[in-house]
Amino acid sequence: MTMGNDAPFRTVIEPFRIHSVEPLRMTTAAHRAQKIEEAGYNLFQLHADDVLIDLLTDSGTGAMSRDQWAAIQHGDESYAGSPSFFIFRDAVQELFPFEHVIPTHQGRAAERILFQALCRPGMVVPSNTHFDTTRANIEYAGAEAVDLVIAEGHDPSVQHPFKGNMDTGRLEQLLTERGDAVPCVMMTVTNNSGGGQPVSMANLREVSQIAHRHGKPLFLDFCRFAENAWFIRQREEGYAEASVPDIVREMSALADGMTMSAKKDPMGNIGGWLALRDDALAAECSNLLILTEGFPTYGGLAGRDLEALAQGLREVVSHDYLRYRIRSTAYVVDALTELGIPCLQPAGGHAVYIDARAMLPHIPPLQFPGQSLAVALYEVGGIRSCEIGTVMFGRHPDGSEEPAAMDLVRLAIPRRTYTQSHMDYVIEVCERVLAAKDDLAGYRIVAEPPVLRHFTARFAPLT
Ligand SMILES: *Cc1c(COP(=O)(O)O)cnc(C)c1O
Repeated sequence: MTMGNDAPFRTVIEPFRIHSVEPLRMTTAAHRAQKIEEAGYNLFQLHADDVLIDLLTDSGTGAMSRDQWAAIQHGDESYAGSPSFFIFRDAVQELFPFEHVIPTHQGRAAERILFQALCRPGMVVPSNTHFDTTRANIEYAGAEAVDLVIAEGHDPSVQHPFKGNMDTGRLEQLLTERGDAVPCVMMTVTNNSGGGQPVSMANLREVSQIAHRHGKPLFLDFCRFAENAWFIRQREEGYAEASVPDIVREMSALADGMTMSAKKDPMGNIGGWLALRDDALAAECSNLLILTEGFPTYGGLAGRDLEALAQGLREVVSHDYLRYRIRSTAYVVDALTELGIPCLQPAGGHAVYIDARAMLPHIPPLQFPGQSLAVALYEVGGIRSCEIGTVMFGRHPDGSEEPAAMDLVRLAIPRRTYTQSHMDYVIEVCERVLAAKDDLAGYRIVAEPPVLRHFTARFAPLT
């Protein structure tokens, strides 16, 4: 035994300590049963005070650092030309060297502006897998959103290091057959709706070459760029010694622009941006921005938000942070797998995805097994998760209904927010639900809006 060397320990610790705490409210099973019924069995409709461990999303729910809170005090609220904008822009361009950086209040505002500028009815936009707001904004502009993830990306149990990769053969085919109707190619990095699975540098390079050969710009939906870069460093040949910032810059160099939800890897509670190379497109997007978001040096954000994001970008590329982040997600997946709960393999970056269709084979997809499991996790342990399956994707714009590719329940892990004992509790709640799984029933929808129904639909149990 040699002491004093840097041999890694089995325990990967949180590379921070707690500076300010928020109380959690304990609730009883009877209280939760009443609240979820009142919410129409829709977890989005709960009062967050009635949730114990909130794994609904990793979006905007992370803990900001001491240095981010300090940066907030530095915010300058000038309407035009705020120094905070330039601090923000420089931090963005340090990692993503695009000429034009347009702040927005969230990722979806960047998407709305980009697709309003690019899409017309009859067009088609390919991606590995469109995120739900991306798909909705493309469809709202009258275009079609097409998912071309590799076949492995559709099978929750198969192991593959880069399940977020695009099927480049199908991309080539789409561009050959319908190229005139394609305004751009998108790539979601990591692939959120496909299980937080990474995209390899090799695949991104190939997608970039194909898109550019057909004269199409490539845009990255780059919300989890740092987690993806860490996976490349861990799994892709030739990157073991590369720094995460260098990997991020190499990915950016392959694209013509990006959309960002700064509520993800940039460690913000709010924010986003659209970054572009093309001058004319950037000018058009800036004009659309002014219409609904604000002047181009704040874009719907306060100066203080821009400062917090600039600092968050410096923190998220830390290797110590990313080692902890990716390990803490894998910790939960490993424990659930050990219990016999079918999880999407391998572990993704920001979330654990339980394969509800495989866990609850007695509930057919059109009776929403993911919804059933998500409601049970809340009723049993006060855990709020998110169905990513037939509720979210099963209804088509023409009103028809069919099973989604997968019925998953996502336990998204907010950044730097919960400790290992919180996760041990989550694992124990899952174990209790597993023991009672044969008693879980499906659901039917009793009311739903025309788009993005998962946010507001009301359900009733089928008993
Ligand atoms: C969250 C997210 C978005 C949308 O961003 P908002 O900030 O929620 O509007 C777009 N794409 C992906 C991959 C996301 O995870």
